[in-house]
Amino acid sequence: MWSQRRVVDYGLAERAVVHSRRAGRTLRGEVCDAQSYLLRAARRFGGPTERLCPVCEKENVTNVTDVHGDSLRRHAGQAKVTSELAVMAHDYDEFRVYVVEVCQGCSWNHLTVSYVLGNGPPDLVGQA
Ligand SMILES: [Zn+2]
Repeated sequence: MWSQRRVVDYGLAERAVVHSRRAGRTLRGEVCDAQSYLLRAARRFGGPTERLCPVCEKENVTNVTDVHGDSLRRHAGQAKVTSELAVMAHDYDEFRVYVVEVCQGCSWNHLTVSYVLGNGPPDLVGQA
């Protein structure tokens, strides 16, 4: 549908947090600390997933997608649904998307991936 550029995968950091929690080195309150705005965003704008929450293992996590970038102006810092991202990718040169997974059951939350979208010129590095 569109090309994601400069993808950063935070999976390794997330697995370290989950492992630390399971080993009892981290209190649940330290990892299940989603702020109320994030839980609201998960309810209103979140994308459902098939991924079971790694902490409570009772509910599937919801992906909340935030957009950031100087050119976005009023959109900056807002949660967006996927269809809005597709429109914005045509309307703006460049902005960064952050995907946070949120468990609405236990308030677990963690950044999973971020990437750049937009209709600007493709990056030279990594292009064939
Ligand atoms: Zn959970």
